[in-house]
Amino acid sequence: MTDRYAVFGNPIAHSKSPQIHARFAAQTGQALIYTAEHIEEKDFEAAVERFLQGHGKGLNITVPFKERAWALAQWRSERAELAGAVNTLYRLDDGRIAGDNTDGIGLVRDLAENNGVTLNGARVLVLGAGGAVRGVLQPLLAAGVAAILVANRTVARAETLAELFADDGRVQACGFDQIPAEAFDLIINGTSASLQGELPPIAAASVGPNTACYDMMYGAEPTPFCRWAMELGAAQVIDGLGMLVEQAAESFRIWRGVQPDTAPVMQALRTALKTA
Ligand code: NDP
Repeated sequence: MTDRYAVFGNPIAHSKSPQIHARFAAQTGQALIYTAEHIEEKDFEAAVERFLQGHGKGLNITVPFKERAWALAQWRSERAELAGAVNTLYRLDDGRIAGDNTDGIGLVRDLAENNGVTLNGARVLVLGAGGAVRGVLQPLLAAGVAAILVANRTVARAETLAELFADDGRVQACGFDQIPAEAFDLIINGTSASLQGELPPIAAASVGPNTACYDMMYGAEPTPFCRWAMELGAAQVIDGLGMLVEQAAESFRIWRGVQPDTAPVMQALRTALKTA
């Protein structure tokens, strides 16, 4: 039987993961089936068990189940442990369910490898303090950034995240109105404000001619944050499509032991977005 993989979420209809993994499989000559499954909230744990007992070799997990996937994993990678969330499940040789989180490494690879953004020594402003931001802090620190300021609408959530990294000393927290009026090397929008067509309330002073701006969101048109950054003359403006493809590539590598080439897949998705 062909090895099976799936992404579990709710809602799931618009997931691009099946087409990304189908392209990776074709490109690397791997025989597999990857589907998107709508899972009812009450069924999540049982559905994971069922899937991984049959021909299911691995799962991606998306909203709203990443924390529950973290809880059900019987072994977790260090990056998953720190993220408090799991987006990749598979079985270890001893039968235990393993959980990993590839979102953060996906962002770091998209920034550093695909877009040439220098992370080593960078002063980074991160907007938002939800699940996505929590998952990217440790990989950014591991990439050598000098400092991360996490700014969030609900300041207490940003403070809670900064406390997780208190030993490291490079992560600080504040509200949007407390961001110092100076240009950062890199600004990452990890809020879901773009989903509502909104821009987090940050000052133009945060963007200088050498600032790279990254929105974890993406779409057919530039997001409000990307438009704002372009108008201010940011050095680079990047959306989250590359992060999506890179996190998928890392899951594929974990499951199949083969590193896919992400560039042609990103190109195909970008073209599909523009012509949809
Ligand atoms: P969460 O719901 O966990 O967090 C949402 C965050 O956005 C919170 O910090 C919230 O602030 C903030 N926020 C929401 N609306 C506004 C607003 N109007 N103005 C300012 N801040 C706002 O979401 P996630 O962390 O899971 O996801 C965040 C974004 O990242 C989403 O857009 C998601 O699509 C994207 N993402 C992209 C990935 C990729 O591969 N490209 C992977 C994962 C996520 P508060 O705490 O005050 O409510």
